[in-house]
Amino acid sequence: MNWYKNIIKFSSHNIKFPENLDNDINEIVEEAINYYYSNEEKPKITDNIDIIDPYTKEEDKIIFVIQPFTVDFINTIASFNPQNRIVSIFPYHHNLENFNEQILFQHYKEKIYHEIAHFIDPKFKIKDFWKDRNKINYLLREEEFDAYSKEIEFVVKSNLNDNNIEEFKQWLRDGNISFLPIYLNFYREMISYWYKNKPEYIKILKQRLYNVMKGHKNAET
Ligand SMILES: [Zn+2]
Repeated sequence: MNWYKNIIKFSSHNIKFPENLDNDINEIVEEAINYYYSNEEKPKITDNIDIIDPYTKEEDKIIFVIQPFTVDFINTIASFNPQNRIVSIFPYHHNLENFNEQILFQHYKEKIYHEIAHFIDPKFKIKDFWKDRNKINYLLREEEFDAYSKEIEFVVKSNLNDNNIEEFKQWLRDGNISFLPIYLNFYREMISYWYKNKPEYIKILKQRLYNVMKGHKNAET
């Protein structure tokens, strides 16, 4: 399928998401939270999420497995395995210790958005695409930038309100890193890295977030 190759000619493209995924994602998040409190020691397969692939228009299933172990690798609250196309969730990750349910909910959801972006990303359907990716710095990989964009879009959507929209616009307009809204603090180090090493990612990220902002009801710019 050559059109996949056309997509990755661009430095990056915004991953299309199927509509109305939110309730399905919430159910997976609930399962991860129940698991977190259960002290369960066996892997658990959750319900699948059935989607229509927005690129191929074909039906597909996202399979999630909740794992009792943790893996110490960057950001491993969840991961996507491109070989078997399964998303694993690691609720016992030490970064999540002592979090209350509301914060757990937010974190699992952010990460599940990220992994679903990988699942849908047409780049991962190019044969052997994933094989050499480890040679590239994690934060500079297009597929990670695209997945983090989705995650950050979700965080902005959940935090943007009438009181903080001006601050957000200021960052989009003339913002260096010091204008980054506080609810994006978790991503500050990564975004700083892009400012320094990949300024075009900042430009694309801001375009993507501008579109999110336009969806907010008081967004007249
Ligand atoms: Zn990733």
